[in-house]
Amino acid sequence: MSTTLGDVEVVALPDAVGVLGELVELYQGTTAEEWEPYRGLYPELFDGSSWRLLVPVHLLRTGGDTLLLDTGVGPSGLWDEWRPEQEGLLPGALAEAGVAHEDVDVVFLTHLHVDHLGWNSNEDGAPFFPNARYVVHPDALAFALARPDRPHIRRCVTPLLDRFEDAVDGAELLPGVTAVALPGHYPGHMGLRIRSGGAEGIAIADIAPHPALLDRPEWAFAYDDMEQTRTRAQLVQEVVDTDVAVICGHYPGSGVGRVLTREDRVVWEELV
Ligand SMILES: [Zn+2]
Repeated sequence: MSTTLGDVEVVALPDAVGVLGELVELYQGTTAEEWEPYRGLYPELFDGSSWRLLVPVHLLRTGGDTLLLDTGVGPSGLWDEWRPEQEGLLPGALAEAGVAHEDVDVVFLTHLHVDHLGWNSNEDGAPFFPNARYVVHPDALAFALARPDRPHIRRCVTPLLDRFEDAVDGAELLPGVTAVALPGHYPGHMGLRIRSGGAEGIAIADIAPHPALLDRPEWAFAYDDMEQTRTRAQLVQEVVDTDVAVICGHYPGSGVGRVLTREDRVVWEELV
């Protein structure tokens, strides 16, 4: 699935789908009744009363340059805490899109949770994208390295230590594509801003990993903190009812959409 923002093509490549857990347990203090309206809006994101987590990886292309926005869940076995329906799809999806591993120029890691870094490296620790710059915020790296025994850190972070470059707020990664600090959720959490040919977009990473949170920015996920709910509320104010495309890997379809007021709710609608 491909969307174009100015000269930047945004392609959603599937990697994994799985069930994470009961929403009312993950978002403490919320009730099943409160979640009900969002089931109607985003049916793909529910498995009964549990969160069905979609994990595509977005590929950004402009001119001859290619950037991967995070690298998914990776091969099976890295993540114990979810019930996968499908895993390990990214290599096939890249091939289908005509992208060789060598073609990727930049791997931008928004943060280092298990569903965002899985295809960083091969089983032997070699970079899965041999020609790519791997860009990540130093605070995220330091936080991950303090947990060296976690399987995803051992496989996907530690072997690449000499490859990582510091992500800097405002730094251009591709023409029209810059890193942007989105504090909260994980130390050094970042997104991407796209400004190209009059079009604008923002890849929000996990600042609102379920679109219900755009309507209820105060709801806090197990990993969230006050900083995150603040960033989220600001983000919603910035983008609601504008032409700014909001991109999230955990949203349905292409993951590229707009944030709009519909009756009394703030909703995310896929750009088609
Ligand atoms: Zn995530």
